[in-house]
Formats: sequence, structure tokens, C-alpha cells
Amino acid sequence: MIEDKNQPRTSISQLGEFGLIEHLTKNFGVSHTSTIKGIGDDAAVLDFKNKKTIVSTDLLIEGVHFDLSYMPLKHLGYKAVVVNVSDIFAMNANPTQITVSVAVSNRFPLEALDELFSGINLAAKEYNVDVIGGDTTSSQKGLIISITAIGEAEDHEIVYRNGAKPNDLLVVTGDLGAAYMGLQVLEREKQVFQVNPNNQPDLDPYTYIIERQLKPEARKDIRTLLFALEIKPTSMIDISDGLSSEIMHLCKQSNVGCNLFEEKLPLDPSFINVCEEFNIDSTTVAINGGEDYELLFTISMNDFDKIKGNPNFTVIGHMTENSEGIHLITRANTKIELKARGWNALSE
Ligand SMILES: [Mg+2]
Repeated sequence: MIEDKNQPRTSISQLGEFGLIEHLTKNFGVSHTSTIKGIGDDAAVLDFKNKKTIVSTDLLIEGVHFDLSYMPLKHLGYKAVVVNVSDIFAMNANPTQITVSVAVSNRFPLEALDELFSGINLAAKEYNVDVIGGDTTSSQKGLIISITAIGEAEDHEIVYRNGAKPNDLLVVTGDLGAAYMGLQVLEREKQVFQVNPNNQPDLDPYTYIIERQLKPEARKDIRTLLFALEIKPTSMIDISDGLSSEIMHLCKQSNVGCNLFEEKLPLDPSFINVCEEFNIDSTTVAINGGEDYELLFTISMNDFDKIKGNPNFTVIGHMTENSEGIHLITRANTKIELKARGWNALSE
């Protein structure tokens, strides 16, 4: 949160647009045979042979989706890639390429863009995607990042949101809510810092939840894991906006209802501690907090034995007839209608 005033500041305009693109993309290589032509022509050329091509795009705006006072630019670059490849994994596909477009105001020196792109490069390596193009331009105010992720899958592998059936089991990977509480801790420390800039917070107890917010990972392992277990989910989505709104997407698209069980929600112990510290109900956060980037999917009841006891997966509910609606069954065994109060960038 402390800005180093002695950092070198090279003005972006010194390089010119082509010089800038050359500078930012010099470390990007090509590793997929499907990339026929990457950066360096008017357009990229891809060839997926007989496979299907999966495409997803995301826009990140400073002040709406991220706050640079506690989000280091390198982390932001990394996260921008993660949120996009997560959508490709949510189709049970394999991400192979990304395009990266950024708009920056003159407030950002070249060194800041270098930081951003070092994070993008790191994530591109981690998720094995070729950076095949993009654009850079200036903005009136702040930083804007748009990433498009491209992936591949066999036709029969692709999992949509609309295949869930009544009695299917609802399964989630990892744990829930930590990214949201990580954000709460960072917001609190930012306010403390504004009052007393000399205060050095002890963030050790919050390592896991802050990492979930600042350096989330997409579940690249699940596709392989499910394949090995011989499971094809009937529907799938990634958790970006929050569990309840993702459940509602699956239900709406699949025309089914759902019973979600509070006692089954997978919560990290450090997450529960922070909820107690903030006096916030952990179930509310687990259901409505977003940005966990875990995968939520449904499987046939017949596949239950294949995932039973697997630490990657938690069965948190089951699908019902559409007419039964979407409910949370609490620990006290009361039935509450689930509402989508997930993160919504367009709401107040
Ligand atoms: Mg998604």
C-alpha cells in the first residue's frame, strides 16, 4: 500500500504504440500447435482441426473490478488471466490462447505496464496459454483490461449449464467465501492506512483469504480429474459472482430446482475465524461472496461413488423438479428460498 516515490518512471509515449507492443510482448512465446500465427500480423491464425473452439471474454475496470491501492499490478495481470481461463475450464475445455487488450491513462508509466504484463506472462505460463494478440490504447481515466480466452475440447466433452436433471447431485470444488473475506480485510487495512500511514498491519492470520482475493487460481486440475474418474458433469459453471447466483444460472438454464444444504458448505477454518472477527455470518458469505473461481457442477447420482471421499469435491445439494424451487436447507432444518445476491458490478 506504500508507493515508492523513487521508482523509475518512463513515459509510455516515449515508445510509441508499436514500440510499446513490441516491448510488452517480447517474452510471449507460442507452445500450442493450434497457434498457426500469434502476435506479429494483422490477425492471429488458429487451427483446432476437428475440435470445437471455446471463446470467452471479460472486461476489468479500475474502480469497479479492482482497486490498485491494495492490488499490486502483477497480481492484477495474473488474476485477469485466471478469471478468463476459469470460464474455459467451466465448459470442461482446455484453454490454449488469450488476447490481451489494455487501456491506460498517462498516470501509468511504462514500469507499471511491465508489472501488469509480468503477471499476465506468469499466468500464461502457469495455464499454458499462448498470448496471440491484443491492443493497447490510452484512456481518459484509469486502467481497463480486456482479455479473451480461447480453448479447445472434443464436442462430446463440452459441459453446458443446461444439462442438470432432477436428482442430480450438486458438487463444488475447493472451499467457498474466502476471496470475499480477503477483500473485507484489505478494505479494512486500507482505511486504517489512510488514517495512519505508519501502521504496518499484521496480515499473517489472513494469508489464505488474502491470497484467495489477490492471487486466485482457476481449477485447471478438475478437467483431468473428472476424466480419470470417468465422470462427465451434466452441467457446470465457475463461481465468479457467488454460489447462489451460479446455482440460479444452472437451475434456470436446466429448468430444474435445487436443495442446497448449509451444513455441507465447504469452509476453510481461517475463513470461519475471520467471519467471527467481522461478526458476519459465514453461510451468508459462502453463498453470496464471489470470486472464488471454484467449479460448481452437477453429476448423476450413479456417479456418487466415484467422488465419495475425494477431498477435491463436496456434494452440497441436489437438483429437484423445477416446480419445487431453489432452497437453502439450514442446519436447523428450515427451508429458505435462495435469492441471487451475488456480486453484481451493475448494482449499487
Ligand atoms: Mg463463468
